[in-house]
Amino acid sequence: MQSVSLDEVQIAAFAAYLKQTAGIQPFDFCARSEGFIYPERDRPGALETFFFACAHQFGFWILAEDRWDKPMVARIDGRDLKGSDFLFRACTRACQADPSAFSPATLAARTNGQLSDLFRDDAGINPLPMWPEHLALIRGYADWFAARRETPADALRRVQAAPKPLFALLEILAEIPGYAEDPLQKKAMLLAIVLENRPERFLRVTDPESAVPIIDYHLQRSALRTGLVRVDDPSLRRKLVAREVLSRTEEELIRAATYDAVGRLMARTGLSAAAVDWFFFQNRTRCPETTEPDCPACPVQAICARETQLFQPVFRTTAY
Ligand code: SF4
Repeated sequence: MQSVSLDEVQIAAFAAYLKQTAGIQPFDFCARSEGFIYPERDRPGALETFFFACAHQFGFWILAEDRWDKPMVARIDGRDLKGSDFLFRACTRACQADPSAFSPATLAARTNGQLSDLFRDDAGINPLPMWPEHLALIRGYADWFAARRETPADALRRVQAAPKPLFALLEILAEIPGYAEDPLQKKAMLLAIVLENRPERFLRVTDPESAVPIIDYHLQRSALRTGLVRVDDPSLRRKLVAREVLSRTEEELIRAATYDAVGRLMARTGLSAAAVDWFFFQNRTRCPETTEPDCPACPVQAICARETQLFQPVFRTTAY
């Protein structure tokens, strides 16, 4: 039985909507941050900071028994930030204090306690729910670069010299701990759009066709609620509504379908992965996890399936 499927009617409706929405521009991972969430333009160490930080964009939610309980939120430098912003702020703070903070050699020289201290919140604790997994990936990441006597800047130079720079970047990241574990390459593609869209233009892409969809949990929630992806199996639907932990197979079905749906949106609209991602990234606040979505105020309410009771797959992974 096909328990998860794509809804072609919804995909066509959303493709038409995205195409006629002129305001879909990729985010530059700099503006509106004022050097707080993300490093300022031309900040020394910014490249290494993003290489590091994108690999750690995962696991920002709390599990209670076998259910999703709440997002990770912690206070850092006087502001309460959700997981992804918290981690970027912690990395930006470390980069501003020491531009070499995220060079692989510096990471390799730090003790486990010193690495944990990089992520201290204002109460003095490291609030990352999957810290052991982060630590293991940091060690693997530093070892990978040390074994090749390379830095992220060296890797980027190789990438930029290749005939297809985006393809080459994804190929290299597919080997690096922190990026290598996810066959759908969510964090790798996130790093690619950061490097391409930052004001410094760290990456110049000449092969946009090499882009892949960026599928995190916000995007899966959006795909389920909007009806781009349909779940017909009653048992799986019940688990999604109850926010229960899914099996690996169940999660893979939903994530793979969401990947296909977003891939079709990119193909039909001609929009970049970054532009489609930015649209859905903004949707995470319109269609949130912890409060009832405000459908009447939502720009896609006319075409949305409004499956507001559905939730993203609850599944512990370092992929997103
Ligand atoms: S807020 Fe409502 S209309 Fe908008 S995406 Fe979410 S479910 Fe759909």
